[in-house]
Amino acid sequence: MKKNWLFIFSLLLTLSSCQTKSEYFKSKLDIMKVDNLSSSFIKGMDVSSLIALEQSGVKYYDIDHKEKDLLKILKNHGINYIRVRIWNDPYDNDGHGYGGGNSDLNKAIEIGKRAKKNHQKLFVDFHLSDFWADPSKQMAPKKWKNYTFEQKKKAVYQFVKDSLSKLKEQNIDVGIVSIGNEINTGLCGEYDINDVSSLINEGAKACREVDSDILVSVHYTDPQKDGLFKYYSDVLNRNNVDYDIFSTSYYPYYHGSLENLSKVLSYVSSNYNKKVMVSETSYCFTNEDSDFFQNSIDQNTKCDKPYEFSLLGQATHVRNVIDTISHINNGIGVFYWEGAWISVNQVSYQDNFKLWEQYGSGWASSYSKEYDEEDAGKYFGGSAVDNQTFFSHNGQVLESLKVFNLV
Ligand code: CA
Repeated sequence: MKKNWLFIFSLLLTLSSCQTKSEYFKSKLDIMKVDNLSSSFIKGMDVSSLIALEQSGVKYYDIDHKEKDLLKILKNHGINYIRVRIWNDPYDNDGHGYGGGNSDLNKAIEIGKRAKKNHQKLFVDFHLSDFWADPSKQMAPKKWKNYTFEQKKKAVYQFVKDSLSKLKEQNIDVGIVSIGNEINTGLCGEYDINDVSSLINEGAKACREVDSDILVSVHYTDPQKDGLFKYYSDVLNRNNVDYDIFSTSYYPYYHGSLENLSKVLSYVSSNYNKKVMVSETSYCFTNEDSDFFQNSIDQNTKCDKPYEFSLLGQATHVRNVIDTISHINNGIGVFYWEGAWISVNQVSYQDNFKLWEQYGSGWASSYSKEYDEEDAGKYFGGSAVDNQTFFSHNGQVLESLKVFNLV
C-alpha cells in the first residue's frame, strides 16, 4: 500500500514537471527556429552591473514568479555564457566608485563563481582603462598615465596575467578573453594601430600562459562602415597579432543591415580563418523609461528601428542576429549587452540617485568626474538601457527572454 502511494506521488510529480515544461514553451512569441543551430553555439549575456544592482536592492524573479539568482534564471532560459567587463581601478582616492557597476576584478570573480555554479562559461572583457572604453575614449588607467610605451606593454601583460590567474584560482571557467573594448580608435591611451597591435599581443601572451584553452578576442564596432573590418583584420594579420576571435558590437540602430554584418565578418572568417561573433547587441522592448534617467534609445531617437519596440520586436532581433552569425562559417555566438540592467526602482529620481552614487548601479556616478570630466563627469546618472533588458522594472523576467530557448 505504501509503495502504491509512493508510485502515485512520483507519477504526479513527473506529470507536474512535464506540465511546467510545456507551459514554458507555450510562448506567445511567434519565433521561427534557426536552421541547424549547433548546441555549442554561444548564447551569451553581459551582466556586469549585477552586483551593484543587488547591493542597491534589486531582485530578479523567474517565470514561476519566484526570486532566484539572476544567473540561474538566465540558465533556465538557455543562456550558456556570461560576459563581464573589468576596469582596472574604477574608484577615486576616497574609494568612491565611478559607477557602471563599479566593475572591477572582484565583481568579475563574484559573478564568475555564480556562473560556474550554473555551468556557464565566463567571457572576460578587459577595457584596460579605469572606466568606459569605446571609440570616443580609450584612456589609460590613471596609474599608467605617465608610463612609457614599454612600461605600458609590461603593465598590460601583468594586469591580464594577474587578473586571469585570480579568476582561475577560484576555478572559474574562463572561456573567452577580450583584450580591449571597441578598440576602433585606440587602446589604453595608445592611438597608433601598430602600437595597439603590440598591446593586444601582450594581453594575448598573458592569456596563453595562464590557460592555453582560453580564446583571445579582439573587439571592434561600426560594422556598417565600408571597408573597416577588412582594414582592421588586414592590419592585425600584417602585425602578426595573436588572436582567435574577431568580434563586433552590433546595435541595429546604427550598425547597418544583418546582410552587411554577415558580409564583413565573413571576410575575416574566410581570409584569416578566425572565429567571429557579436560580443554586444540589444534591442528595446518598450519606449518607456523606468528609472527617471533618460534611456539612450527611445521613440524620439533618430536611428534605424528595424522592428517595433515590443517584446516580439526584441525577441525577433535576437533571433535574427543568432540566425545571421550561426550561418557564417566560424560564427560562434552572440552576446546580449546588460540584459538585466534595470531600475533600482525607488519612487523618485532623488532616491534612485542616492543608490547610484552609493553602489555604482547607474551608468556613471558624480565621482567619475576626476577621471572622465567631459562625459561621465557631466552626464552621470542611472540606467540608460532599462528599456532594452529582459526584466520589468521590479525584476520580473519578460516573455522575450524565451527567445534563447525558442531558437
Ligand atoms: Ca533609464
